[in-house]
Formats: sequence, C-alpha cells, structure tokens
Amino acid sequence: MYDAEIDFARSVVAEACTLTRRVQDRVVEAGDAHAKGDRSPVTTADLAVQAVVATRLAEHFPGDGLVAEEDSGPLDDSPTLAGKVLKLARRALPGLSLDELADAIDRGDHPGGSGGRHWVLDPVDGTKGFLRGEQYAIALALVDEGEVVVGALGCPNLPDPGDRGNGRGWIFHAARGAGARAMQTAGGAPAPISVDRIDDPSRAIVCESVEAAHAAHSVQAGIADRLGVAAEPYRIDSQCKYAVLARGEASIYLRLPRDEAYREKVWDHAAGAIVITEAGGRVTDLDGHPLDFSKGRRLATGRGIIATNGLLHDRVLQACRDELTS
Ligand code: AMP
Ligand code: MG
Repeated sequence: MYDAEIDFARSVVAEACTLTRRVQDRVVEAGDAHAKGDRSPVTTADLAVQAVVATRLAEHFPGDGLVAEEDSGPLDDSPTLAGKVLKLARRALPGLSLDELADAIDRGDHPGGSGGRHWVLDPVDGTKGFLRGEQYAIALALVDEGEVVVGALGCPNLPDPGDRGNGRGWIFHAARGAGARAMQTAGGAPAPISVDRIDDPSRAIVCESVEAAHAAHSVQAGIADRLGVAAEPYRIDSQCKYAVLARGEASIYLRLPRDEAYREKVWDHAAGAIVITEAGGRVTDLDGHPLDFSKGRRLATGRGIIATNGLLHDRVLQACRDELTS
C-alpha cells in the first residue's frame, strides 16, 4: 500500500534537496532571506521548494490537498525576492511564470483535518539552521483520514551515521506498517533503519533544538539530570532530530515549550513522527498520547513533544512530570 506515494515523496524530496543546496552556500547574500509577518525568516529556498512540490503533487495526485508552511505574501512584499525565487524554481520548472509561481505556492493553503487525504510540507524545516549553514530538512508527509501514512525527510547536510557536523546528505522515508529506510541523497539503495536498544537512560543521548527560543533547554537539562543522562545534549536543527533518533544516534528527543501559548505546526512533526514510529520508536505529547494530526494545520497539544527509542519512553515521561511538578 502507498507504494506510489512513497516513490513520489522520495523523489520530490530528492529534487528539493538539489534546489536547496544551490541556495545554502549563497543565502547570506543580501536579498535571499526575508522576515515574514511573524518575524520568522523565509528564504528563496523555502518558497521555490514549496512551488516545486506543489506543482509535482498536482501532476501526480491531483485530488490530494496540501498543507504547507509558506504563502506567496513575501513575493508581493519584495520584487527582488520574487525574481530570485522564480529563477530558482525555473531550474526545476522551466518556463514557469510569476503568476504560476504564486499560484503553486498558494496551493499549500489546505486546512488539514480528519477527512480524506492531504499532504503536509515544510519546504525548509529549520530555516535558522539553513541560514547558519548547518542542518535543515525538507519534510513531506501524507495524512489519510487524519493519520500520517507516508513520510519523507530530506536532510541535505546530514553526515553519515556516527559523525556530526555537515556531511553528504541523507533521505529517510517510511510508510505505515512498512518500516523506515534511509538512503544517501547521492543515490543508492534505501536500507532499513531502526532506533537503538538502549534501556539504561544514563547511556542515552538526548537531542534538542539548537534555537533556545524553540524549546526549554533548562527544563530539558533538569529532565536529563533526573534520568542520569551522562552525555551533553546533541543539538541539531529541524526534523533531523527525528532522523538521527530513527537511525540510532540518539535515544531521546525532548521538545518542551518555552512558550505554552505556542501551538506546534503539523509540518514540523508529521514526516518525523512516521519515520520514528516505523523505525521502532515512539512519539507522544507529555501526557503520553500519540500526536494528533487530524485537528487542522496545528497540533492541539501545547505541553511538549517527546520522542524516544520506545524502551525509554515511560521513564522519560515520568521524568518530565517529576521535573515540571518540582
Ligand atoms: P527546530 O529546528 O527543531 O528548533 O525547529 C524549527 C521549527 O520550530 C520551525 O519550523 C518553526 O516552525 C518552529 N518554531 C518556531 N517558533 C517556535 C516556538 N516558539 N516553539 C517551538 N517551535 C517553534
Ligand atoms: Mg519548520
């Protein structure tokens, strides 16, 4: 089941990795980054990738909706940005016009929810990591009747297992009941991956956001202390956290809110969540409930997200409760 969807997700994410790579070396160049209304950054890469994925989706699965992070507003704000996005998108879509570009980006305005099928896209997850020249991900998932059933994560800078820093890039993909696989962006056969089997929390590696505004690092340090974790946290941007957990390089991912009013976006977790669960891990909110992707463009939970190798999950949840009530 979903074989055509996995092939599609994998190949469009690979195409997107090629595009974002062209930009990352030059993003510091003036005009490539733009502050959105909420002051978060968007780059030429985010907008071009969204246009390309939306266009390919309309060709391959015309009946499916798309929930995606960006809209064409920044193109109206800045003609310079619009010109750069168009040039980049035309590498994949020759002859594309500015109107077609804006229409393609705005195809990502689906409300999500529990009925039918829709795809969920974060064209560049971890834009801040992207702008720092570090890790980021292209995250695409298919939600069917409110459940994530397919996911692909393109991690263009991810090193080979065991290394940190920038490497040659990996793509992860998973489908419900079919397991999780990883392949190099350079090609080669996808190979099954799985979470580690560490059941002693003192040996666990905890991964967390680089950005202190995205997660409560001090609370997370308290949780790690309660668990007796010895290693320093592995800080890495974007859904690459789910990817490194899924291939056994970390056992715990903590994402406790800095701001309890913030609601996590479905595109920041859908692809990562299925890659983790199909690799044998578990992802829940702080109450131990699976993430609910059926509520629209955001997740309902505001209390935090925990992913683990499964074996450590209940102990991590207990440590979170203890830390938060202390
Ligand atoms: P990460 O690279 O894991 O830190 O996460 C990047 C994602 O964090 C971005 O895609 C944003 O959608 C999301 N984000 C932005 N602001 C916040 C916030 N206050 N709390 C949690 N996540 C956020
Ligand atoms: Mg994101």
